[in-house]
Amino acid sequence: MMPALSGRMPAIDLRSDTVTRPTAEMLDFIATAPVGDDLFGEDPTCNDLEREVAQILGKEAALFTPSGTMANQIAINLHTRPGDSILAEENTHCFLYEAGGAAALSGVQFDFVPTGDELQPAAILSRLRQDNVNSSPSTLMVVENTHNKAGGRVLTVDQVTAAASTARNAGVKVHCDGARLWNAAAYLRCPEQDLARPFDSVAVCFSKGLGAPVGSALCGTVEFVARARKIRKRWGAGMRQAGVIAAGALFALRHHRARLAEDHRRLLYLRDALCRAAASGKHIEVMNVQRPTNLLYFRVGSPVADALSLGRAGDAYSAKLADQGVLMFHLGGGWLRAVTHLHISDADIERAAEILVRNG
Ligand SMILES: *Cc1c(COP(=O)(O)O)cnc(C)c1O
Repeated sequence: MMPALSGRMPAIDLRSDTVTRPTAEMLDFIATAPVGDDLFGEDPTCNDLEREVAQILGKEAALFTPSGTMANQIAINLHTRPGDSILAEENTHCFLYEAGGAAALSGVQFDFVPTGDELQPAAILSRLRQDNVNSSPSTLMVVENTHNKAGGRVLTVDQVTAAASTARNAGVKVHCDGARLWNAAAYLRCPEQDLARPFDSVAVCFSKGLGAPVGSALCGTVEFVARARKIRKRWGAGMRQAGVIAAGALFALRHHRARLAEDHRRLLYLRDALCRAAASGKHIEVMNVQRPTNLLYFRVGSPVADALSLGRAGDAYSAKLADQGVLMFHLGGGWLRAVTHLHISDADIERAAEILVRNG
């Protein structure tokens, strides 16, 4: 069920792939999932989830966490010491959207590596800090695949392998923020483990494109995950009958990966429609991404008029869309983001494309 605007067709919610509700089949699976005390290691559903996700990612072990933020922050905490520096792609989630966690919880700072369709080894090396008496050494690199703010773009297996070995050769650990690693693998039609292999640790979300209500996982060696389990407890997220939520994640892991290509196909439909509108003179600019997945960034209004109106064109546009049954955030400066997911059908995306173009 989609959110209803009073007395009208249900809204087409393109704000985020986190807005999905559990399906009827998922709720059935949750209702009958066996549970136990997970802090005693006795929750069978949690144990199944951790084993299956580790296996899919080709890692020895996994830890279920309530959020992707916690999975990333535990990894940062374990791979660094206070005063260290993290090499991270520009605009990465663990810098922008994790409430300053790296600074607050682990006492580390960031250096940003330019990124986009490529993550160049030379760019990584140019930001690398040595360990000497004056410096805050680079001890961890974080790679986000797919990268949200870079337009949901995919880094290929060759690209992540080259980036990770560049860092490793400099003695730097490598963590993958793979909240949407599933989308990257679906795009490349490769096993997830090919994208996970170069990394010491990988965080994945079940609550994004996979459509589970709650949860993420942090994967790595047995020894790393045992240390992660202790940090999770220390930070207050040791859970008891966690199988109640792990079941939704397990169902999503088993049944919703194969359908991600549909989200990507629908996103391309929307992108093509907006590109055609732009070519025919509408004030729409579509972010150019070589390997797009389920995210689309575009800008409305003429840049000059928008600068003068302090971005009000974007607010007015998203208000008009909402009025016509399409929900989307205005991110500022006329930029909006559309996200396809489990609840967006072909008919929805066709209707959304028509409304986006008509109002553009
Ligand atoms: C959503 C997301 C996360 C984790 O977010 P939570 O809301 O804490 O689960 C991490 N990285 C990226 C790139 C994300 O999109």
